Amino acid sequence: MGDDSMPLVKAIDMAKKYGDFIALHPLNVEVHAGEFFGVFGPNGAGKSTFIKLLTGQLRASKGEIEVLGVNARTDPQKLKANIGIVPESESPPSFLTPAEFLEFVARLRGVDDIAGKVEYWLDWFGMEEKRDTMCKDLSKGQRQKVMLATAFIHKPKLLFLDEPFANLDPIYQRKCREWLLQHVKDGGTIFLCSHVLEMAERMCNRMAIINHGKVLAAGTIKGLKIDPSETLEDVFIRLVGHSIEDAERLEDEGVTNSEEE
Ligand code: ADP
Repeated sequence: MGDDSMPLVKAIDMAKKYGDFIALHPLNVEVHAGEFFGVFGPNGAGKSTFIKLLTGQLRASKGEIEVLGVNARTDPQKLKANIGIVPESESPPSFLTPAEFLEFVARLRGVDDIAGKVEYWLDWFGMEEKRDTMCKDLSKGQRQKVMLATAFIHKPKLLFLDEPFANLDPIYQRKCREWLLQHVKDGGTIFLCSHVLEMAERMCNRMAIINHGKVLAAGTIKGLKIDPSETLEDVFIRLVGHSIEDAERLEDEGVTNSEEE
């Protein structure tokens, strides 16, 4: 609210340990209104952990995290009311139908014209025939569509997406990509995690590459390339391949590892 220059997402020294295992080393991140920000890295890099800390689904081991002006560590409930989250591995409730679950979420989010919007989004995702099927009997891709529809239906000003297209066919990948790009044009802000680099090329205006819980580099795609002939895949392999050393170089790009304790 108020000051447009305030970042919507701000984490300082955010870190996560699972027991003795450091899943995320202390890092800093800022995401501003109107950005389409992506975190990319191989499997196990720490992407889901990153997004779960910012959305209050996991409690950080240390650091300060403010999202839409709310403290994500102490006030996760308040935070969740104002953002949209499409988690990687979760499914809609098995014993609700897509229509019921969408209606439930829309009501919770205070959406107007609920019946109309539920039908609109079922139709948009090609799910009319499955509107009354229990979610447990849907395919993975259909379940992912239901999860995406619950995020799209209330057009949250800040949307977190974890591997959002993993189970979608190319037609719906494109459709969703276009919707997300339009959402950003309309003033929305998106934070996305994925290992699919193509998404960075097609959607993100700024990104961070992480591995073993450390930010290896951050910036615009252009800024990450040593020269224009380098592809993003080259960048990824160069950085992830021999990790770590050059993280310091990019400190002023808004995402950095913090000083270790
Ligand atoms: P990504 O999303 O990039 O694949 P994750 O954030 O899911 O990576 O996991 C990062 C690391 O933390 C992995 O090595 C994973 O095994 C570990 N990890 C994730 N969740 C837990 C947990 N609940 N307990 C212990 N280790 C975990």
